[in-house]
Amino acid sequence: MHTESVADDAREALLAKQREINALIHDLTDLLDTAGDSANRSRGDRYGLSTERHSQAGTLQELHRQAHAITRALAKIDEGTYGGCDSCGSTIPPDRLEFRPWAVLCVPCAAGT
Ligand SMILES: [Zn+2]
Repeated sequence: MHTESVADDAREALLAKQREINALIHDLTDLLDTAGDSANRSRGDRYGLSTERHSQAGTLQELHRQAHAITRALAKIDEGTYGGCDSCGSTIPPDRLEFRPWAVLCVPCAAGT
């Protein structure tokens, strides 16, 4: 059936993205753990580094959000609700899912929170 093949394609894309995100989270967590040490070593870069560190922490937070959405999207495939909005139940446009396979909310719901 057509919807099943869409979900199968999405599952492949989501699993690949999940591996990518987990690797990025791992790298960034390591980087943030060691950033404190290098700040002590080069005082001149302290302000630049702390700004960079702040943005890396923000990126890490964003990656965790995305990892969470991917997990939820995979669960929705298993539930058979993939492609439906988690909040209002309306259908998520296929071109949105193609661009963001991990989308679990329709555009208005994603924008409204
Ligand atoms: Zn919605």
